[in-house]
Amino acid sequence: LTSTEEAVLDEIEEEGVDFLRLQFTDILGTVKNVAVPARQAEKAFTEGIYFDGSSIEGFVRIQESDMRLKPDPETFAVLPWRNNEESAAGRMICDVINTSTGEPFEGDPRYVLKKALERADEMGYTVNAAPEPEFFLFEEDEDGRATTKTNDAGGYFDLAPKDLAQDVRRDIIYGLEDMGFEIEASHHEVAQGQHEINFEYDDALTTADNVGTFRTVVRAIAAQHDLHATFMPKPIPRVNGSGMHTHLSLFDEDGNNAFHDGDDEFDLSDTAHSFLAGILEHAPAITAVSNPTVNSYKRLVPGYEAPVYVAWSDRNRSALIRKPAARVPAASRIEARFPDPSCNAYLAFAALIQAGLDGIEQGLEAPDPVRENIYEFDEQKREEYGIETLPTNLGEAVDALEEDEVIYSALGEHIGPKFVEAKTQEFDDYLVDVSDWELDRYLETF
Ligand code: GLN
Ligand code: MG
Ligand code: MG
Ligand code: MG
Repeated sequence: LTSTEEAVLDEIEEEGVDFLRLQFTDILGTVKNVAVPARQAEKAFTEGIYFDGSSIEGFVRIQESDMRLKPDPETFAVLPWRNNEESAAGRMICDVINTSTGEPFEGDPRYVLKKALERADEMGYTVNAAPEPEFFLFEEDEDGRATTKTNDAGGYFDLAPKDLAQDVRRDIIYGLEDMGFEIEASHHEVAQGQHEINFEYDDALTTADNVGTFRTVVRAIAAQHDLHATFMPKPIPRVNGSGMHTHLSLFDEDGNNAFHDGDDEFDLSDTAHSFLAGILEHAPAITAVSNPTVNSYKRLVPGYEAPVYVAWSDRNRSALIRKPAARVPAASRIEARFPDPSCNAYLAFAALIQAGLDGIEQGLEAPDPVRENIYEFDEQKREEYGIETLPTNLGEAVDALEEDEVIYSALGEHIGPKFVEAKTQEFDDYLVDVSDWELDRYLETF
């Protein structure tokens, strides 16, 4: 055992952990658990724990269903909402190993991100990421089912007494801190019942792990308050949706921020400009991964602080990519504003990073930033500025993904086709459905 693994065993002993949840995610980003008695921890480290992968979304074909989970000891945490005097539960995030080959399983989203980070490493970079997941807190009905009724009437940065959800948010933050999160800020978002909690940046793999944990903790603690937390991108029409803006930067081998250049008008290096240009170039295909639900495209419409057009800006928030002000060189970064929290963070980060690295490799140059409000541009002005529009629905996004060799292959040979298949089905299913909007509009008119 490694010293980290030994330390985990000690902690399991000290904290009286009796069950371990071994976690991984499926292609859709849903966190899956296999619970084992804590005394199996040592075996999990040395041999891994076998499970049947055939029941997991997009994992394997039935005939090759034996998978092995190999826990990453760095990710050990005691679940705060399952911790009392009698018993405690711990969790670890796992890599998925293909039993027949002993190699990492290509269908594991965590592996897809690791591959992207390996490529960055070969180019001499480590990748830092910080997401800003937004979510709504809704009341439950008598049967405990989620409604879209909010429990507060607060708005952006409102304070008590309007912000009745403050207590819940505080408990969520305590829960996250217990799980090892460094919380930077939390505030009420623009919409009623909408919140944002920011945690400190980290290397991209840790951050992607954190996104899954974050969603789990937020939902569990909200449930303790009889509230339903949702990361659905646009639960209420004509009101701000929930994004997951993602801040990215590359550090070089000396630990310096490769995105910073104090001589540049925007404090961004050529590397950063190329990285940014790579994301712009591949944006339509990335969208299929970073905005992977039918509902995602209800958020990407003009007027709600979510991007619609493929442009970058050092000022305004209608752009796809923003350059946030940085107080110190280490903080120079770009903010991709299109991802939403319904994405699989491993896959979305992998797509963003591979696009950016492609931009660096191709030596792409970023266009000029757009400082005006792009929502107000008409088609002619957009043409004049050379600004493209993001896909307007999941179907278009999946088409773009299939046509983009860089992003499609970023997902790997296993996940690429499975992802396209699952998302095509999802979109087709939506197309044949009849919505409440249609009934309201047509049922009595015709
Ligand atoms: N909710 C907005 C979005 O959909 C962002 C609002 C903000 O953070 N200023 O991206
Ligand atoms: Mg924010
Ligand atoms: Mg926000
Ligand atoms: Mg932001």
